Amino acid sequence: ALEIGRDVGRSIVNARLFELERRMTAELRRADRAKTVLFSTVSHELKNPLASIMGHLELLKEDPSGDPSWSLKVMERNTHRLQGLVDDLLTLAKVSDPDRPLVRERVDMVALVRNAVDMFLPRAAQENVTIAVQAPPQAPSAWGSPEELARLVDNLISNAVKYTTDGGAVTVRLRTVGDRVELVCSDQGIGISKADQRSLFTEFFRSTNPDALEVPGTGLGLSIVQRIVARHHGTVAVDSELGKGTSFTVLLPTG
Ligand code: ADP
Repeated sequence: ALEIGRDVGRSIVNARLFELERRMTAELRRADRAKTVLFSTVSHELKNPLASIMGHLELLKEDPSGDPSWSLKVMERNTHRLQGLVDDLLTLAKVSDPDRPLVRERVDMVALVRNAVDMFLPRAAQENVTIAVQAPPQAPSAWGSPEELARLVDNLISNAVKYTTDGGAVTVRLRTVGDRVELVCSDQGIGISKADQRSLFTEFFRSTNPDALEVPGTGLGLSIVQRIVARHHGTVAVDSELGKGTSFTVLLPTG
């Protein structure tokens, strides 16, 4: 009976090990597939602006005495697009690297938000969008990397301004909730459909909403936000209604 008991025990352990190995292989395959998809998307995204720049260079070469202003404009726009793309890709790679240690220090979130708002005010003014900051007198601080948290706040405010139409308002609220800092970035913009909300944090995802596609972007901003939040053991949630506006709520550990 002891022998049979031992055999049964051994086959249960073997079955568990087998199941674990099967799950790990499936997970590795999934990660590998995701990486291949990402590589081909990146190549595709880089190829289009490059092809446009090369096309216009050819045009200029073929007709050196013609007016270059149109070609220069298109080349400038595409160069900016490439620059933005490469910058986002580098940031995404940095914040996705599990071996890259996270800087941990006390970060004054009010100062950080005010800096970001100052940076976006000229663009917001151009589009007739206002940006307000609401924060308690006792400034909440977060615990983490000032550089990464600044990027997170920049990306959220940048989107709020980008996707808000003429005359709309953007509000950034900060408060302490228990042992967390809550940052809410709300806008009165074009909103995000329920279907799009499910894919929002996927690399290169851009809404199919024609109003959103009019605005240039890389589709990497929110995936960067999500990874920074994860590295800081925080959470991010979206609440949005098409045509009404969007709110992103981020919770981070306090410093
Ligand atoms: P990008 O803005 O460069 O396209 P993001 O990853 O920052 O990339 O955002 C992904 C998509 O989510 C955007 O293309 C847009 O459709 C939608 N989105 C993000 N933020 C907002 C917002 N505040 N209001 C409406 N749509 C938004």
